[in-house]
Amino acid sequence: MSRPPSKSHSPTTLDPHLQIAERYGMISYPAMVSPKNSSSTAIKDCKKTHQNSSNDSEQIEILNGEKCDDKESVLDGLVQTILSQNTTEVNSGKAFLSLKNAFPTWEDVLAAESRCIEDAIRCGGLAPTKSSCIKNILNSLLDKNGKLCLEYLRDLSVEEIKAELSHFKGIGPKTVSCVLMFHLQQDDLPVDTHVFQIAKTIGWVPAIADIKKTYVHLNQRIPAELKFDLNCLLYTHGKACRSCSNRKVGRQKKERDNNPCPLLAYCRDYC
Ligand SMILES: [Zn+2]
Repeated sequence: MSRPPSKSHSPTTLDPHLQIAERYGMISYPAMVSPKNSSSTAIKDCKKTHQNSSNDSEQIEILNGEKCDDKESVLDGLVQTILSQNTTEVNSGKAFLSLKNAFPTWEDVLAAESRCIEDAIRCGGLAPTKSSCIKNILNSLLDKNGKLCLEYLRDLSVEEIKAELSHFKGIGPKTVSCVLMFHLQQDDLPVDTHVFQIAKTIGWVPAIADIKKTYVHLNQRIPAELKFDLNCLLYTHGKACRSCSNRKVGRQKKERDNNPCPLLAYCRDYC
């Protein structure tokens, strides 16, 4: 799967994330002027931010969608994203393949007993929770649309897609954002733990920031055309960088200071 050519982005267009933030009462960090376009671009183009990771090229290839199936449906993408919660890409990939092997169609999944679905996806962890979530989505789709299909989302705006997906029980903002970016090719920046910690490390949000406000803030500040590449890089960097990964697991500040994050230099130069 490859991304379509970037859409043109007028700076005068009202940011849909701002509309959504206002609707849900989500406040970001209006006093923070970072990230500026210059630092977002510099970090996106930085070639040395993840040089210590042994499997970076493979990871970036996966995140860029090179290994995705061209014929993947939006519903496939949503279920893959659900299965990816709280586990590794390897395990969630195995869980999805196992599910498809056991139940080739979504109608088969809907007709199956929950314990059979749990058995199929168990290698991805949280099997009862994820099984219940998938079943609920399939039941809701059948009740609402009469068929198990989410392809109609491709014709909706980002805001409309968010509203549609948010109706499903168990689907949070991060899952919606991942589906938007990786399965609907929309310019939306998911904020996982890696992106969240890096944003704090390099001062794009306050050190006491929370992840929901960070999502709103970064999506307001970062140019749409940079979001996909930046997400791939920050995710990979977060796994490889000693400073950012130490912060994530709560190691001491002194230890982080001995292994400063290389992105800090880029922010100093371009902010
Ligand atoms: Zn770092």
